[in-house]
Amino acid sequence: MSDIFGLPSNEKVWPVRRYLDLHKESLEDPAGFWDIQARRLLWRKGWTQTLKWDPPFARWFVGGELNASENTLDRHVASWRKNKVAYLWEGESGEKRTVTYQDLFQITNRFASALQRLEVRKGDAVAIYLPLVPEFPAAMLACARIGAPFTVVFSGFSSKSLAERIQDCGAKVVVTADGGFRRGKTLPLKAVVDEALESTPSVRHMIVVRRTGQQVSMKTGRDQWWDDALRKGSSYVEPVPVEASHILYILYTSGTTGKPKGVAHSTGGYLVHALSTQDWVFDPKDDDVYWCTADIGWVTGHTYIVFGPLLHGLTSVMYEGALDYPQPDRWWQIIENYGITVLYTAPTAIRSLMRHGEEYPRDHNLRSLRLLGTVGEPINPAAWYWYFNEIGQGRCPIVDTWWQTETGGIMISPSPKLGLVALKPGSATFPLPGIDAEVVDEKGESLPPGQKGFLVIRKPWPGMFLTLYKDNERYKQVYWSRFPGVYYPGDYALRDQEGYFWLLGRADEVMKVAGHRLGTIEVEDALVSHLSVAEAAVAGRPDPVRGEAIVAFVTLKSSTRPSKELEEELRQHVKKTVGPIAVPDRIYFASLLPKTRSGKIMRRVIKAVASGDDIGDITTLEDGASVEEVKSAIEMLREAERRPKNNR
Ligand code: ATP
Ligand code: MG
Repeated sequence: MSDIFGLPSNEKVWPVRRYLDLHKESLEDPAGFWDIQARRLLWRKGWTQTLKWDPPFARWFVGGELNASENTLDRHVASWRKNKVAYLWEGESGEKRTVTYQDLFQITNRFASALQRLEVRKGDAVAIYLPLVPEFPAAMLACARIGAPFTVVFSGFSSKSLAERIQDCGAKVVVTADGGFRRGKTLPLKAVVDEALESTPSVRHMIVVRRTGQQVSMKTGRDQWWDDALRKGSSYVEPVPVEASHILYILYTSGTTGKPKGVAHSTGGYLVHALSTQDWVFDPKDDDVYWCTADIGWVTGHTYIVFGPLLHGLTSVMYEGALDYPQPDRWWQIIENYGITVLYTAPTAIRSLMRHGEEYPRDHNLRSLRLLGTVGEPINPAAWYWYFNEIGQGRCPIVDTWWQTETGGIMISPSPKLGLVALKPGSATFPLPGIDAEVVDEKGESLPPGQKGFLVIRKPWPGMFLTLYKDNERYKQVYWSRFPGVYYPGDYALRDQEGYFWLLGRADEVMKVAGHRLGTIEVEDALVSHLSVAEAAVAGRPDPVRGEAIVAFVTLKSSTRPSKELEEELRQHVKKTVGPIAVPDRIYFASLLPKTRSGKIMRRVIKAVASGDDIGDITTLEDGASVEEVKSAIEMLREAERRPKNNR
């Protein structure tokens, strides 16, 4: 255990040095560094300029031309990987499908041909609204094959959210399924699209994958079944070479912080970033069985289920359903059944599985695992230890990967491939090569170790988004106006004495208590490190004396009940762990916290409840969270808030 964990001992220091040296060298000439990485892709035409930096707009590999589908499929089909498995798919009810690279190549080509018959041309947008089935990556790659930018909308979003996204990108075709399975029930996906299409004049055709077999109405002339479209399509479509800066896809951010933004990604730069980071962070092996548990509806799925793994010719597992269905050991069963070697997931998933107890993973053989990863939120040390000990059984390093929809790929993370640094639970460690990250104060000055401030990226990187679709002004204002000339991701962070980066949540969630700045995550970590606590959400409420008072909502592990004693114990626990300044003014026990569809706690809701503000009309939630679930969570929070006051 000690070789990957804890502070580096003398003989273990070398990989850190090697890694840090490499990082330093890469920043002396980032363009030159990325130029070398880019040569691993297949280009139809070489670039003449590696980077054209016209702040804040970066264009990578200017003059170069390539095709994303050719890079992910044709290359493998022409090699021994032709019959290698690309996806091992499992449906929620246990049915299985094995899709080889040749299979995926076939489906992709036939669908690309079908799109061409529908007159989709280079530059025309296609919207994809699918459950997690193998047709999903094939649909994306088919679009890429003919140069049609695609926009994936997570299949949990409402018809209104879907319509807004389609209107924004002007999609001509929508790809969906009759329905999808979730916890044994069926979701009426086609019906949701039907409703959305009432307000989307740009859409001329809909293609429907048959998944559940449920009753749907097909509109003649507009709708057709996927299978019919494929049958009519030809088995080979010449990949269309596109400029490196041609839009590969537009992905609307999850909207945790407000109205979604259309993040537009390039083809060349994005693929270089996906290829390099998949390599450095997951150290791919040909016999890996790799599982990224995200939905393709999020950027994590785009980069680390589709493009990264396919560029490397990896075998991935794709699981359609809910993580604890029909039992809380479903994931552990999957790991055992397929002999999964790499598991990449989110802290929220780890915490909810942790809540059920360790007996579930202990019932399964998880020895095939060699590497674990997390993304999406800071991982609290308690969940980190559980993941490390119970799932990785003390053998597997954890790569805590910080990045965003906007960055296209991983930015800050340990790198098992290049030299694994000693891990510290809760720290994403160091920026990857070519990534110039720093923590600065309000004025943009670098901060000394131990001081909290704002994360910035000082130089462009290839996975960087091109802009916000059709909104250059908002792009400039949101990301580039706070600190002119450098990218502002909106996250709060610090570097410790050894230079490790600690991500402390979003900058707009930082509380100011009696003159001290505190990230909500710092208090949440302390609460979750108590044995009885499963999850915690913290927010500041205006306080006339201290500026802000801390309010915490806590859900307990299945085995514990709320009590006044426990509340006091938690206060003492926070005091011991962080300090008196961080002690919550109020701790409320709740049985459910409102979460977005991507599993993140809905902080604006927490904040509104904590401050007693009106939450507003939640039926217009942008993030696709289930309105019913959020409503009942809010109700429970409000009730929890009433309860302890009466007890006092
Ligand atoms: P929106 O931008 O629409 O409000 P979002 O920020 O939740 O939604 P994503 O791009 O999926 O959408 O999430 C990126 C954010 O998630 C980061 O800015 C950061 O706040 C958080 N994050 C991701 N990975 C990590 C990590 N490893 N450690 C800490 N925070 C992380
Ligand atoms: Mg964001």
